[in-house]
Amino acid sequence: MASNCKYIFVTGGVTSSLGKGIISASLAKLLQARGFSVTIQKLDPYINIDPGTLNPYEHGECYVTDDGAETDLDLGHYERFLNVPTSQANNVTTGRIYQRVIDRERRGDYLGKTVQVIPHITDEIQDSIQTLGRSGDYDFIITEIGGTVGDIESLPYIEAVRQLKLELEGQALVIHLTLIPYLEAAGELKTKPTQHSVKMLQSLGVQPDVIVARTSHELGSDIKLKIAKFCNVHKNAVIQSIDASTIYEVPLLMKEEQLDEVVLKKFGYNDIESPDLSAWISFLNKIKYPKSKVTIGLIGKYVELKDSYKSILEGLIHAGATNECKVKIELIHSENINKRTLKELLSHLDGILVAPGFGERGIEGKIETVKFARENNIPFFGICLGMQCAVVEFARNTLKLSAANSAEIDPKTPDPVIYLMESQKKVKNKGGTMRLGAYTCKLKKGSLAHKIYQKDEIQERHRHRFEFNNNYLADYEKNGMIASGINPESGLVEIVEIPKHPWFLGVQFHPEYKSTVENPHPLFVSFIEAAVTHHNS
Ligand code: GLN
Repeated sequence: MASNCKYIFVTGGVTSSLGKGIISASLAKLLQARGFSVTIQKLDPYINIDPGTLNPYEHGECYVTDDGAETDLDLGHYERFLNVPTSQANNVTTGRIYQRVIDRERRGDYLGKTVQVIPHITDEIQDSIQTLGRSGDYDFIITEIGGTVGDIESLPYIEAVRQLKLELEGQALVIHLTLIPYLEAAGELKTKPTQHSVKMLQSLGVQPDVIVARTSHELGSDIKLKIAKFCNVHKNAVIQSIDASTIYEVPLLMKEEQLDEVVLKKFGYNDIESPDLSAWISFLNKIKYPKSKVTIGLIGKYVELKDSYKSILEGLIHAGATNECKVKIELIHSENINKRTLKELLSHLDGILVAPGFGERGIEGKIETVKFARENNIPFFGICLGMQCAVVEFARNTLKLSAANSAEIDPKTPDPVIYLMESQKKVKNKGGTMRLGAYTCKLKKGSLAHKIYQKDEIQERHRHRFEFNNNYLADYEKNGMIASGINPESGLVEIVEIPKHPWFLGVQFHPEYKSTVENPHPLFVSFIEAAVTHHNS
């Protein structure tokens, strides 16, 4: 019931990158495993309307939801942990908040009034938080406030939390995630940064109810007591979050620390039974005790920053677990790949995945990679731009259209085998204008794709402007590359494959967004299975 919906706010202190998203997702998992319905929301204090126009170096991967929202990568964690789809309502930025308020001002909704941060912006933030609660679908809404307490940008969010907590007395609480650094030279854990960050929060009128302390060393009860005293929380509400070997261990560590119990008791729930985490534990054991090992090359151009390919890396981990196989991932920069380096960089790989991306940089290396995988029968998985590279490679080397290209890379190519979608030709604005979100795809019976999905129709998420040029389709199919997935309404080619190759698949959509712990994506699972076969042969 909406009116009974409880709100949990997660703020961060001391530094960024402490893993608020993982803590939020872990708590949500524990509550879900007790039968509650939970969703998680991320409020991002930057001015961009969404992260869709951000370079992956700035903000990591852009995660896409079914309803076509371009969102923060933390939403990926939420879906992977909870196995429940998120939507635009789960990610709001300062830009979006201001845009709504300004639109309203222009409509005249505030006629006569001066529009101000307080109350108009803070009201809009509160409204965004309560939108999910009002849906009546959830027992708990966990709202993660991006950034670190003390940032100028976060102030309106903290103020909104302060007001909401007061208004929703007993129905809202605040978890503050901080860092307890270990000073090597002194051999000691230090609580001072946490004390300061909690003071900062208190000075803004917010008293945290629970402190989750990230640490590399066990906290011990003396340190917990100290944190409790200085930060004005109960000792049992100081939760240790020790570095874990995988993010998927964090829900179990949080359960050991009783984070969920502490939260539930604060909301007045007593007689709480244990959550059922058996499926989660069995997944974790498969990751921890694999029976085989494969090496997968992930070819991209943002390889310095693993967050750029977050969902793909997680999809590979999920698929590894299903296959009880350790997946070692080598991130290889496509700019380093050329005819001379090909063999050395790629020949030891058991599977090759060419990543999504935009623009020209590193593209020829990706095309060379596809050729190598195709000719050497190495399992090949191309996602979005990776699929487009496979189409270009096939045109150049099999169809003998030597100057074939994607119109994104060479607008003047005589053979634009990948070209701009009709609907994209008029588009001028960059933000939110790609082909985004879930579309239906019909699978060809007897194809590899059909065999993997075991379905006639699927729904997958998209994020692209360019597409396969159907004028060339007959030529491709005659020469051994088939379109095994087609959008039934538009006729757009969504999947290509080479039936003669042991495992060669290119997808225009992003399957990685839909891989979860409970539902590892079938394409990833099959790709890893093929890699195991390749490894053993
Ligand atoms: N740049 C390509 C396009 O816009 C591929 C996009 C992607 O890989 N997400 O079509």
